[in-house]
Amino acid sequence: MIIQKLNSRIFLFPLEKEEEFSNSYIESTKKHNRIVLFIGILIYASFGLLDLYAGPELSIKFWMIRFGCVLPIAFAVLLLSFLKQSNLFIQFSLSFASYISGLGILKMIEVASPPINYLYFTGLMLIFICLYSFFRIKFLWAVVTGVLLLITFGLYSIFSYNHPAVISLSISSFFIAANIIGMISTYTIEYYIRKDYLKTDMLNNEKEKVTEANLLLEKRVEERTKELSISKELAEKSEKLKTEFLAQMSHEIRSPINTILNLSYLIKNEEGELSKDEINDCYAGLTHAGERIVRTIDLILNMSEIQLKSYEYNSKRFDLAEVLEKLTKQLQYLAFSKGLNLRLVKNCENSFLIADEYTIFQIFDNLINNAIKYTNAGKISVILSDEAENRLRVEVIDTGIGISEKYLPNIFDSFTQEESGYTRRYDGNGLGLTLVKNYCDLNNAEISVESKKGSGSKFIVKFNRQF
Ligand code: ADP
Repeated sequence: MIIQKLNSRIFLFPLEKEEEFSNSYIESTKKHNRIVLFIGILIYASFGLLDLYAGPELSIKFWMIRFGCVLPIAFAVLLLSFLKQSNLFIQFSLSFASYISGLGILKMIEVASPPINYLYFTGLMLIFICLYSFFRIKFLWAVVTGVLLLITFGLYSIFSYNHPAVISLSISSFFIAANIIGMISTYTIEYYIRKDYLKTDMLNNEKEKVTEANLLLEKRVEERTKELSISKELAEKSEKLKTEFLAQMSHEIRSPINTILNLSYLIKNEEGELSKDEINDCYAGLTHAGERIVRTIDLILNMSEIQLKSYEYNSKRFDLAEVLEKLTKQLQYLAFSKGLNLRLVKNCENSFLIADEYTIFQIFDNLINNAIKYTNAGKISVILSDEAENRLRVEVIDTGIGISEKYLPNIFDSFTQEESGYTRRYDGNGLGLTLVKNYCDLNNAEISVESKKGSGSKFIVKFNRQF
């Protein structure tokens, strides 16, 4: 497409490209032009020997022109080409040097008379060859210089030379022909250089595009690999969770069922031999085992409801103090059976809340149950107080076994327990706190834990009264 444009416009790229091409052309031909100029200077100087043939008087005049004017200018151009800014004027100065060289020859032709000066006409041919073909002067500069030389020659022929008309005409036609051939030659050379430049430019563009596409591809592959490894990790995690869930549940269901079976065999087989207290202990054991199974199943059901997002949130206004009172009353017996003091402290006037009462109840049921379970001596305090503006705060504080710093960050993860395996001292399934966290999120509440191993734990839940 650009090549077609080049063909139709012959020699001009779009402005920006033209400037780019020009800079690159001048830079890449600099060395070549210097060498050609240097060789040109040597040849021009060596023709000084020819001057001797014209006799001593004329040869001094020729040398004045050759060595006194033309060669110093050509040499100065050669030196200037080494300047840093030479790119700005090198094309002009080479054209100028060519013109001056030609002018020098025309002047020598004027100074000498026929037939000696005929020898010098061919010199001008050499200048045309140099200008159009040996130098890498851009087409337009070369044409302007060549035409200027032709005009100068014409003026000399009309006003100064005394050649017969036929000689002037034949030399002029040779010069004109040399110029036309030279123009075609320089045009062709530049045309192919431009074409090559465009092809290289297009190739570079394509290369850039390919490199860009490659980079994009690499980035995509990297992203996909990352996504895959995340999915793999998730799959592995969910596989691990599934295994942990099955292990945990079979333990949590099996142990109380075993207890129920053993106790019922004991009651049946030892009938009449058990004391009343022993029988009461057996019934208490049966109730506890039954409650443990019900609790585990409730937890699983609640958890699956949350995960399937099928829980129907029922927002209503209720008194949080009443919920906590009901709970502490229900759990009083359990705490008492372990010799623990469970108390509710209400430090605020208004404890009304708009939230889902069932899940709020479950949050504190789990927290207080845990506090009782993981406390062997001392007390459990449930403290209700005002948090900053329009917020309520509930703290469940125990004097129990506490939680290690290492486990604390994972405390709300599913199926995690500080002590795991069959040797653990406390029953449970590691789901309670995960459910608590989910229920807090559901009610837009914040939950946090402060604990130290061996010194008890404090679970803090903060509610917005309305949200
Ligand atoms: P679990 O059924 O095992 O109690 P939870 O999810 O309720 O499961 O609790 C996870 C773990 O957090 C427990 O196994 C226990 O190690 C620790 N934990 C929870 N509450 C307390 C507490 N009040 N004191 C000490 N450790 C606790």
